[in-house]
Amino acid sequence: MNHRGINSAAMRQANEGAVLERVRRARACSKAELSRVLGLTPASAGMLVAALLEEGLLEPVGTGESRGGRRPDLFRLRAQGLYSCGIDVDRGGYDVLLLDLAGRVAGSTYGELPEGAAFPAFAVRAAKALATLLRGTDVPTGRLAGVGLSVPGYVDAHRRRIVRAPNLGWHDEDADGPLRRALLHEVFGGAQPEGGPVPFTVHLENEALAAAIGEHWAGACQDDEDFLCIDVRSGIGAGLFVHGRPFRGASGLAGEIGHVTADADGPLCGCGRTGCLETLAATPRLLEALGIPERPDSAARDLLAFLESPEPARRAASEALLAATAKRLGAAAAPLVNALNPSRIVFGRDMAVYGARLLPGILEELRRDALAESFAGTSAVVTELGGRASAIGAAALPLAGVFGREAETWA
Ligand SMILES: [Zn+2]
Repeated sequence: MNHRGINSAAMRQANEGAVLERVRRARACSKAELSRVLGLTPASAGMLVAALLEEGLLEPVGTGESRGGRRPDLFRLRAQGLYSCGIDVDRGGYDVLLLDLAGRVAGSTYGELPEGAAFPAFAVRAAKALATLLRGTDVPTGRLAGVGLSVPGYVDAHRRRIVRAPNLGWHDEDADGPLRRALLHEVFGGAQPEGGPVPFTVHLENEALAAAIGEHWAGACQDDEDFLCIDVRSGIGAGLFVHGRPFRGASGLAGEIGHVTADADGPLCGCGRTGCLETLAATPRLLEALGIPERPDSAARDLLAFLESPEPARRAASEALLAATAKRLGAAAAPLVNALNPSRIVFGRDMAVYGARLLPGILEELRRDALAESFAGTSAVVTELGGRASAIGAAALPLAGVFGREAETWA
């Protein structure tokens, strides 16, 4: 084996990733700019751009400002060059989203998941939904880089195993085998994926960490290195980034703030303890407290409709619930501010719908509970990705290697 050959192939892949990431962030770049910013010789930059044009990952997009000579040709990502799928599952249903190479959502769909569905049955449903979505959007399967799955629960992203997803009743599940088989059957018609520009890959991630990856990729945290995303839905979890990388902890369980005790005398939790934060502040518990029947696919909207109701009795109940919930979420986030000193906290998922009503109370609690000097450098916001951060983050996983962002995935 020629080691030099391996090194130069790896070097070329790294350089192509750096070029694509630079173009992604700048939206359009000239060869001269790539050469200057990435420290490449003009000849190398030219060769890399030519190769990426050939692979269909870049395309020309007019000319830029002259710097004395002739106007330079500009290049941008070719949106149809590559697609990736993110699947985000929770109690009641799952979102399937297609991201194109330029980071735009090329299509999405929602499927219902019957209570108690086993993982392999879910995998078949999700694969069928993706096949329908691909047909509806005219995306060729040969341009599909892979599928990322976001699951609320404890996952071993490296081995693609779901250790425990209490709200879905999944324990010690191999996510890779059943999902890959279902995809081969439903999406690729039983054949192996065709040789597209990159090998087809399947990824698994915890949903809160997937949300953090989504925010880092396309949301509020693109320029943050140390931040956290707190997702509220059927459970509550935090996705942490430290030094620009996902922080998983010693055994992959970092960020499980839903199981911090909020009231020792509170209700029994799925984890076996009592009074965990998510037994008091997750969306289904808030609906329950207000006496609203839970419909999984519209839970957050149902809650917002109640919170916005002008009826006096409802207003009083809403105000009391908002104050108590904001206090609990703020009290759970404050130690994270002190421990991690994040530049940003993003509240996501169902908070995309009703979070604006809670944010002022959360900020008040954080100002009271967190160290003032630490919180002074923290901006706390509600996601702008409309509850899609986890699906976008999951879809980003098969593309991470393409952009030289391998640090965000275990593949
Ligand atoms: Zn718990």
